[in-house]
Amino acid sequence: MTEGEKSCKTKEMAGGVFFAGAAKKQKGDVFVRLTFFGSSHGVPEPGRKCTCMLLEVRENCYFIDMGTPAIDGLTKRGISTDRVKSVFVTHMHGDHTNGLIPFVDLLNWYYQTSKVSIYLPSEEADSAISGWLACNGEAALREGITFHTLKEGPVFDDGLLKVTAVKTQHTADSHAFLVQAEGKNLLFTGDLASPKKDFPQVVLEYPMDLIVCEGAHFSAMEYLPIFEKCGAKRYCITHYAPWNFPNMLELQKALPKEQLVFATDDMILEI
Ligand SMILES: [Zn+2]
Ligand SMILES: [Zn+2]
Repeated sequence: MTEGEKSCKTKEMAGGVFFAGAAKKQKGDVFVRLTFFGSSHGVPEPGRKCTCMLLEVRENCYFIDMGTPAIDGLTKRGISTDRVKSVFVTHMHGDHTNGLIPFVDLLNWYYQTSKVSIYLPSEEADSAISGWLACNGEAALREGITFHTLKEGPVFDDGLLKVTAVKTQHTADSHAFLVQAEGKNLLFTGDLASPKKDFPQVVLEYPMDLIVCEGAHFSAMEYLPIFEKCGAKRYCITHYAPWNFPNMLELQKALPKEQLVFATDDMILEI
C-alpha cells in the first residue's frame, strides 16, 4: 500500500462517520469527497468491483458511472438514497452500467422518496432500462426518476455541482465529464481511445484539482505529456488491470511524490 493509499484509508475511517449523518458545514470540513465503490477495469478483480464512483458535495450525492450495484454501497455506508441527486454515465459498456438496472428498480418500487436524474449517452439506453422494468412487472417509471440524454457541453447545474460533457472516441457516444463544485475542478475521463487522440483539452482551461483517468486501454505513460502541460494538483488512475501496474508505477515515478494515486475499492479522496 502506498503512502497516498494509507492516508486515504485513514481519511476514510475518520470521515465516514461524519458523512453518514449530519452535513452541517463546520470549519475545516471537506465538502467534496470522492468514494470509489468500484475501481476495476472491464471485469471485476478480487476485492475490486467495476467502475462506480460517488461524489459528495455537502449534503448531495452524485454517481459517475454505475458498473456495480450502488445501493449495496450506499447501505454499507449508511447513506440514504434520498441524498443521491444524479447519475452521470460516461458510456454504455457493462463495466460502467451493470449496476443501473438494480439501482433504478429499487428506487422505483422501494425507495420512493428518492428523486434522481440519470444522464445516459443514448435514448436506447433509457428504453432498455424501462423495458427491463416492464419485464419485471413494473408498469412505468414513477415520477421523480428521470432520464436525460447526454450531449456535449453543459449538461447539469443544480447550484452545487456543474457538469460539462466532453466527447471522447472510446465509443460512438462516450463522454468525459468536467465536474465543478465548491470552487474545485475535477475531470473524469471515462474510457478513452488514447490520451493523444481524445484526452479532454478542457483541463488546460481550468486549474484542475483532480483528474481521474482510466488505466486499461494503453500504457499509463501516455498520460505524461498531458499531465506535464496541465499541472493538476492530483491525478488518480482507476479502471486498471493487474497487468497495467508496471506502466502505472513508471508514471508515478515520473511525477512529483504523491501526485498520482491508484484507486482501490472504498478509497476516498477529499478534494
Ligand atoms: Zn470500461
Ligand atoms: Zn468501455
